[in-house]
Amino acid sequence: MVTVEVTVAAVEQRLAAGELACPDCGGVLARWGWGRSRGLRGPDGVVTVRPRRARCRSCEATHILLPVLSLLRRADVAEVVGMGLELAAAGWGCRRIAVRLGRPVTTVRGWLRCWSRRAALTAAVFTSWLVALADDPAAVLPAPARTAAADAVCAVTGFAFAARARLGMLKVPTWLLVSAACHGRLLAPGWPPA
Ligand SMILES: [Zn+2]
Repeated sequence: MVTVEVTVAAVEQRLAAGELACPDCGGVLARWGWGRSRGLRGPDGVVTVRPRRARCRSCEATHILLPVLSLLRRADVAEVVGMGLELAAAGWGCRRIAVRLGRPVTTVRGWLRCWSRRAALTAAVFTSWLVALADDPAAVLPAPARTAAADAVCAVTGFAFAARARLGMLKVPTWLLVSAACHGRLLAPGWPPA
């Protein structure tokens, strides 16, 4: 699974230009039809996405190009899930977050459970990316937060801040950068690898 830009046009352009690399071998990805359309729950209703399928010219593996707004195995867009994680880090409970975001409490609980389980590893991964991107890492490293889950949210937002500055993507929202960086695997099983 490879994460690409939200807009189909940008994906097409990059595929045609041979700019997308195979996550298995680093080879060039070429167009290979389409995945099935699916509806994602956005902040203001359902967003329909139809992922592109691509095939590696070297190892011949096929990959689904997941739009950056989506997270693997989640029905809600990254921005909504991220908002829930940020509210939890600020001390909100599941129920209150569920009401604010208009999602079932079981859904919110599922996100938070996943997030807490791998919080330390997630924090470590995003902190290392932050350090790699920042001009002066010491100045942007987040202070320890209340919980491991909150530490992970701080690491993620710190990473997004550094990525925006370094890559000149000032308008890209935090959770889109995060989703792109981890190829949509933020809450997927086995990510980050131990
Ligand atoms: Zn390959």
